Amino acid sequence: MKIEGRCHCGQITYEAIVDPEKVTICHCTDCQMLSGSAYRASVPAPRETFILRGGAPKIYIKTADSGTKRAHAFCPDCGTPVYSAAIENPPAYSLRVGCIRERAQLPPRKQIWCDSAVPWSKNLEDVEQSRRQ
Ligand SMILES: [Zn+2]
Ligand SMILES: [Zn+2]
Repeated sequence: MKIEGRCHCGQITYEAIVDPEKVTICHCTDCQMLSGSAYRASVPAPRETFILRGGAPKIYIKTADSGTKRAHAFCPDCGTPVYSAAIENPPAYSLRVGCIRERAQLPPRKQIWCDSAVPWSKNLEDVEQSRRQ
């Protein structure tokens, strides 16, 4: 599936091809912090399909508890997280679903790191809902 993405301010734009069956929610504490939210939704794009059309993301190198380092790309102006990838020769870019125009058609297929999930993140059905702000 061809997708287009951009950061909030529009400086960074890209296109890629993703497999909608590979959308994953990650409940790890790094994703909670780096997304500023309860969990992160991502979908991998094979490197050869990812084309950065505009802008130059800033890279934050995150070191995991295991020692693995990973490049996290974000917009230097608006701070939107755009993707993460291996530092050298990444086989794929893990695109942040919230930046993808077609995100409504990319429901998650899998949840990982559920041991560290924020307990309330699993079911929001019963939380009071309003159509807009
Ligand atoms: Zn931006
Ligand atoms: Zn994570």
